[in-house]
Amino acid sequence: MKTIGVLNLQGAVSEHITMLKKLDTVKYSLVKKPQDLQGLDGLIIPGGESTAISRLINQNGLFEPIKQFSRSGKGIFGTCAGLVLCAKTTTKIDNTDKSVTPLGLIDLVVERNGFGRQIDSFETRLTVNNIGDNIPAIFIRAPYIQSFSQSVTPLAYIDQYCVMAQSKNILICSFHPELTDDLRIIHYFIKHCC
Ligand code: GLN
Repeated sequence: MKTIGVLNLQGAVSEHITMLKKLDTVKYSLVKKPQDLQGLDGLIIPGGESTAISRLINQNGLFEPIKQFSRSGKGIFGTCAGLVLCAKTTTKIDNTDKSVTPLGLIDLVVERNGFGRQIDSFETRLTVNNIGDNIPAIFIRAPYIQSFSQSVTPLAYIDQYCVMAQSKNILICSFHPELTDDLRIIHYFIKHCC
């Protein structure tokens, strides 16, 4: 049975745990320190506030250990702020906040808050390549993927904006699958990335 960790620093941690509890095929644990990564097959980096999570990753000495975890081929699933943290480069529309140090796990540029502020949050249904149609997707102060290299496979779009992608063991999306009852995306992550 695979074990999936959830980065437990800030944000939608309990929501991801609730989702993992619905799967009877995996074990789960919380990750706060480098040694918590031991024995895991995959790690979820949840949504929340990427500036806060970034600061806590550094404070807790997790920056290099997470990069090493990814280099060793273990799965990483970044949702929303988690996508921002996995990116190689982030931009910020108003350019006031430079305090995210992305982990650089996947070769793409992410536009933080690309879909706007809290008031611009929305819910839609997406077709996700390799996964399925009509997948519920909740966007909250959501980023989009502005550009990506050939090593990255885009999986879903809203208009011209890429909102989900994969590069080998790294899966990222702009939205919050853990806030819905649809388990197809987490099943895909565990089967194909971990
Ligand atoms: N816009 C937020 C950030 O950059 C992410 C929002 C979210 O995770 N729902 O941190």
